[in-house]
Order: sequence, then structure tokens, then C-alpha cells
Amino acid sequence: MSKKNYSDISTALIHGGIYGDERTGAVNVPIYQTSTYEQISLGKHTGYEYSRTGNPTREALEALIAELESGTSGFAFASGMAAITAVLSLFKSGDKIIISSNVYGGTFRVLDKIFKNFGILYSIEDTTDLEGLDKKITEDVKAIYIESPANPLMTITDLKAIADIAKKHEILSIVDNTFMTPYLQRPIEFGIDIVLHSATKYLGGHSDLIAGLVVVNNKELGERIAFIQNATGGILQPFDSFLLIRGIKTLGVRLDRHVENAEKIVDYLVNHSAVKKVYYPGLEDFPGYEVNRKQAKNGGAMLSFELNDNLDIRKFFDGLGLVALAESLGGVESLVCHPASMTHASIPYDIRQKVGITDGLIRLSVGIEKVDEIIADLDHAIQLAGEN
Ligand SMILES: *Cc1c(COP(=O)(O)O)cnc(C)c1O
Repeated sequence: MSKKNYSDISTALIHGGIYGDERTGAVNVPIYQTSTYEQISLGKHTGYEYSRTGNPTREALEALIAELESGTSGFAFASGMAAITAVLSLFKSGDKIIISSNVYGGTFRVLDKIFKNFGILYSIEDTTDLEGLDKKITEDVKAIYIESPANPLMTITDLKAIADIAKKHEILSIVDNTFMTPYLQRPIEFGIDIVLHSATKYLGGHSDLIAGLVVVNNKELGERIAFIQNATGGILQPFDSFLLIRGIKTLGVRLDRHVENAEKIVDYLVNHSAVKKVYYPGLEDFPGYEVNRKQAKNGGAMLSFELNDNLDIRKFFDGLGLVALAESLGGVESLVCHPASMTHASIPYDIRQKVGITDGLIRLSVGIEKVDEIIADLDHAIQLAGEN
């Protein structure tokens, strides 16, 4: 279909990538629920041979995410972990990857329990200490892998500084952009090489699918990821690709509301006498505030907080009604989780303490419900947690 004229990401979310269906004029890309394609004659095919290698519905999604992240090509996987596994498959035995101290628990687990067995090593570093990081880049280090904000303390890392360090040492820079999405932050525009997503979260947005995405900033990397995607086969199915395209169309309006709600909840928590600490990149006195403001549209809709020590955290979770206790984030519904026993349980206790994931830490994924009702629910639970 004819290329439409637009420049704003809000429009790109709806019209980007491959729009509609040329043959029928359908405004949505059809779901090509097929594994194979009939060939025209021997050695001559339509451009599609087998759906692990290429499927038009998945391709539409891949073109869309590449455009949104300002990359050269995109790839869709069956989960965020499949996307991460594909990216880590770029490395070989003897290579070392520096990861930031608060990466997603599953990322740590796949490095520690799977890739380490193949001789691909990792080291955990404080990526907010840029000078210290620069000195840690020895001959065997081949990539820096970060999240900003990082789960669950919302630690902010300077994307441009990481890209510059990686360029200087001729190694790859990789950003897990799940918490921000391209609507709020586009790491490739700061010089990052590879962006990946658990699209299960904000991009899907409705807690109804598991998916992962990868975007790269050059053709050569694109060819390597395409090879890995086809060779290892962790692709996203056509129907799920359609669902994800559908979810991405409303990402802008959803995130505007998510963030508006988050800012109001932060305001409520900061002023509550039973709340010890609030972690939110949009707070002016938050350590990463200035850096985040430089690289992201706002503070996003993920936050963590700690209740005062005399409150019973178990009663807090039991006292919630509207806000559900669940893993995951980024859906329309508000979800709360206990990182120490849930998302970060696979990280050993001593490492958790070292990086600040205390047993009293509560993470909140702010949904798009009426904010007064989310606050009322939190208020009720905090009150119960304070009673003996
Ligand atoms: C959930 C998540 C992942 C893993 O993605 P899945 O879709 O669950 O496989 C990776 N990174 C971050 C930041 C996540 O939140």
C-alpha cells in the first residue's frame, strides 16, 4: 500500500511497517496461518519457502518494530527469553558479556545456567559507574548488556555513554528496552547496536500473549540474527504476530495513561508516612533523573517502593483487592510483585542483598484503571499492613 506521510511515533505505531493487505485493501495484515508455500517451479518461489524462515504476518511485525526502534531490521520470537537467547547466540566460547547488576532474573539465569556451559561468560558490573566500567573491558569482553530502567530498582544507565564505550572498544552494546518501549525511549538513536524486548509486556499490553523482539542497527548484524532465528527456530507464530501488531497500535494511548497514573501514584506514595522509599525515574531527586530525562520521554509506568520496617509486607499483599499479585508487567491491569521471592528469586540471596533487592521491596506495574481506585486499593492494603 502507498507509503503514508507521517513523522510522529504515535502515527507510526498505527501505520508503520507493512500496512494492510494490497490484494484486498484490508486495513490489517492478514494472518498467514501456513507452514509452507507452493513453489512456482523448481528453484523458483514467491520469496517464501517455509514459515520458520519467513512468514508475511511475522514480517509485518518485524518491519514495524524495526521502524519504531529506528533500526535496520527486526525479528520476532516466541518469547522475550527466546529473543535474548538468539542475541546471546552471537557469541562464542571464550567471549565474555558484561551485564548490569539489575538485569531481568531470566537473563541472569540463561547466562549462568545455559550459556556458561558453552564457555560464554558473564560478569556483573555497575553500569552507572562509567569510568569503572571502561576499565573492566578486557580483551575477552565482547558486549555490554543493560536495561534502563533496570528491574526492579529502576536504576538508570546512560545509553549514549554505553554506546560510546562499546564503540571505543569495538564491542557490541545491547539494551533490553522492555520497560520503556520505543514510544518512550529509542536506544539505537543513541548509538546502541541491538535492542530487544519482552513484547509480552507493554508492546502486547493486554497480558494475553508471550513474545519477544530484536532490532539491530546494521545490515551485517541483521543477517547474523536472521541466520540464528532460522537456524534455532524460536519464532513467533502468525496469530501471535497479529495480536502483537494489534497491541502496538494502542501503545501510545495506553502508555500516556499508564504514565499519568504512575505519576499520581508516586505522588501519593512519596507523601505517605508508612512508605520508606520510592524508586521512580521521574522523581526529581531520584539518582538517574537527569540521565533518564535526556534519553527517555518520561519516567515510565514502573515503580518500586519499600514500606517502613514495622509494617507486615505479607498483610500488604493479602490486603490488595483490585491490584493483583502476579509476575509480569505492562498490561492494562495494575500488577504488584515481590521481586525477592518472585521475579528475582533465581538470583542468589547474597547477590540480591548486594544489589539492593531487599525482602521489603514491592514492585508495581501501574495499569490504566481509574487512578483513584488504584490508590484506594494501595491505601487500604498499607493500612492493613500497619495493624497488628
Ligand atoms: C519479562 C521480561 C523478560 C523475559 O521475557 P518473556 O517474554 O517472559 O520471555 C526479559 N526482560 C525483561 C525486562 C522482562 O521484563
